[in-house]
Amino acid sequence: MRLPRLKFKFKDDDEVGGAKAGEKSGVAVLPADLAGARRAMVEEQIRRRRVTDESVLAAMAQVPRHEFVPAELRGRAYEDAPLPIGEGQTISQPYIVAAMTAALRLRGSEKVLEIGTGCGYQGAILGCLASEVYTIECRSELAADASERLAGMGYTNVHVHCGDGTLGLAELAPFDGILVAAAAPSVPGPLVEQLASGGRMIIPVGDAENQELHLIERTDRALRTTILEPCRFVPLIGAHGWKEFPLR
Ligand code: SAH
Repeated sequence: MRLPRLKFKFKDDDEVGGAKAGEKSGVAVLPADLAGARRAMVEEQIRRRRVTDESVLAAMAQVPRHEFVPAELRGRAYEDAPLPIGEGQTISQPYIVAAMTAALRLRGSEKVLEIGTGCGYQGAILGCLASEVYTIECRSELAADASERLAGMGYTNVHVHCGDGTLGLAELAPFDGILVAAAAPSVPGPLVEQLASGGRMIIPVGDAENQELHLIERTDRALRTTILEPCRFVPLIGAHGWKEFPLR
C-alpha cells in the first residue's frame, strides 16, 4: 500500500491544541483533538459507507479540513455535510470527496485535472495521492485564496489556474484522472478529449437539483460510462456547462 506523501506534520494536532487555538481567535471552537476528529470522520462517515481504499482514507485522515473552511465555520469542519466557502459555493461533504477520489484509483504517478477548485480541499487530497494536480477555478477570488492557502501549506504539486474549466487545459493534456467538482448538464467534450487512454473521469451530471456521479473510463478504443450514485453539487458554469445559473 502506498501512503500519501504529506509534506509536513501540522502543528495543530498535538502541539497547540485545537480548542486553545479556537478560543484564542474567538471565532470558532475546534475539537481539542483534531487528528481524532479526522479519524472519526474517516471511520464513521467514509469507511462505513464503503470507501475502503486505504490511501484515500489516510489522506482524508491527514489533510486538515478545518484550514480550508471560513474561520467562523471551523468548528464544523469535520461534520458529515458540505459547508459554505463564500460566493455561494460549497466545500463538498467529506464522504463525497473520498468517494470521488477513490473512483480515480490513483497510485501516485498520475497527472490529474480538477475542475472547481473552490477552497482547495479536494485539490489537497488529490495532491497527496497523485504526482501533479492542475485545478481550475472560474471565480478569481476563490482561485487566488486557494492558491495561496495550498502554497502556504506546502502542497507544491497542486497548481491553481483561473478560468473556465469546461475547456480543460489542452496544453497540459492528456490527464490520467479528471475530477469535476460542479454539476454539469452533460459531459464537456474538451474534458473527454483530454482524458488519457486508461484514464478515469468522475463528474456529477444532471439538473440543478439532482445529479448522478458518472465514472468515465477511456480505453484505447472506447469510452465506458458507469453511473455510481446520486449527488448534489453547485452548477458548473461555462462554455461547455450551464450558460447561466440554473434556478434551484
Ligand atoms: N472542490 C472544491 C469544491 C468545489 S465547489 C473544494 O474542495 O472546496 C464548485 C466550484 O466550481 C466553485 O468554486 C465554482 O466557482 C467552481 N466552478 C463552477 N463552474 C466552473 C468552471 N466552468 N470552471 C472552473 N470552476 C468552476
